[in-house]
Amino acid sequence: MTFFIRTFGCQMNVSDSEKMHQLLEERGWTAVGEAEADLIVVNSCAVRSRPQEKVFSYAGRFAGRKKIIIAGCVAQAEKENIFARKVKVNYVVGTHQFHRIGEIADEVRSGGRPGAATAFSRRWPELVPGSRCRSSRVTGFISVMEGCDNFCSYCIVPFTRGREKYRPMDAILCEAEALAGAGYPEIVLLGQNVNHWRDPRGASFAELLRRLAAIAPLGWIRFITSYPGYHEPELVEVMAACRGIARHVHFPAQSGSTRVLKRMNRAYSRSRYLGIIGSFRRAMPEMKFSSDFIVGFPGESEHDFQLTLSLLERVEYESIFSFVYSPRPHTRAAAWEPDVPAALAKERLLALQELQERIQLANNRRRIGETVEVLVTGRHPKKSAEMIGRSESQRVVNFASRTPVGTFTRVRITGAGPHSLRGEEVRTDEGK
Ligand code: SF4
Repeated sequence: MTFFIRTFGCQMNVSDSEKMHQLLEERGWTAVGEAEADLIVVNSCAVRSRPQEKVFSYAGRFAGRKKIIIAGCVAQAEKENIFARKVKVNYVVGTHQFHRIGEIADEVRSGGRPGAATAFSRRWPELVPGSRCRSSRVTGFISVMEGCDNFCSYCIVPFTRGREKYRPMDAILCEAEALAGAGYPEIVLLGQNVNHWRDPRGASFAELLRRLAAIAPLGWIRFITSYPGYHEPELVEVMAACRGIARHVHFPAQSGSTRVLKRMNRAYSRSRYLGIIGSFRRAMPEMKFSSDFIVGFPGESEHDFQLTLSLLERVEYESIFSFVYSPRPHTRAAAWEPDVPAALAKERLLALQELQERIQLANNRRRIGETVEVLVTGRHPKKSAEMIGRSESQRVVNFASRTPVGTFTRVRITGAGPHSLRGEEVRTDEGK
């Protein structure tokens, strides 16, 4: 009984795949490579139409030759309709049912009838994957909340991840201590609206971070994804007071125009968003941000788009994820007239990405001569004498070294490109 899990989409999906891996192994299944596997589990993403279709072109490669389970957001969005598709799928497992993956895999192996498990559940599936089932030896993913109650007019997530539910603080602290004990230098707290997390007894997200920052020897504590509409000033105070919390936040703006934000049903304005960024930077001048942007949203005017470009210039993001608007089933905006021509939307996307690349190159060049702390994440794929690492702001750094993966080191920056830095490792006795 062998299996292979292919994961599409976000870190939450990576974390769910780690848990499914654990559950299948507990059931006597063995993880192998894609070619050898009897069972392929495709953990899918439905955030835009392209990733959704990718799931079926991937599964199609094994149809008729292997057993196939489609899990995750596409399973939740399409449910039994998946069986009407050309690709022969054995089972469909929704986002709240992956804890049953072991029994479902056994059923599929014994030739059971195709089925779908897609019910939503308010219960938090308390599952902690063992190190062996984790996708990284450096970064430990910890889910703290799931679901979303915001219903942004373009987003399918509330329909695929359900209503918000929160994991109790004790379970989160326990998993973080186990990861720290296992030598993980970095943890990432996961949730669709992670800054809206609340402990059932009332403790806030900022309080959770304060407690996590006290767990030694954790290096960097990160969290993704924050919703600007849920920002609380206490978070800035805790981050400024606790050095272990990485001074980089992923803060999706989506648009620089308040008019478009209103149409997106995002509960903050351009000035509120910039105000929050300012509050972080007053407390921590070195604070860095990344963001998500959608261009070509129905009704987006040239002026709205110029406001998005000027937001990039104001915030100077470390990086952005940017996409042309993709109508999603069940969402309010899907019914709206797509009045931004595809060619113009594409043009805007290229202009946005070009501006961001110029901003990144200028910022990276300003770091030449600086010494930065770097977490070593791996060996350079082409240059055997080199290692790759990440800075606190998630910037890739390349440098000659033999420092082990998973440790922190210091690198003096000697060169910069738009997406990465180059440097020389600083000997521990130097620069003291
Ligand atoms: S906050 Fe909006 S964009 Fe984010 S998951 Fe919820 S509905 Fe989607």
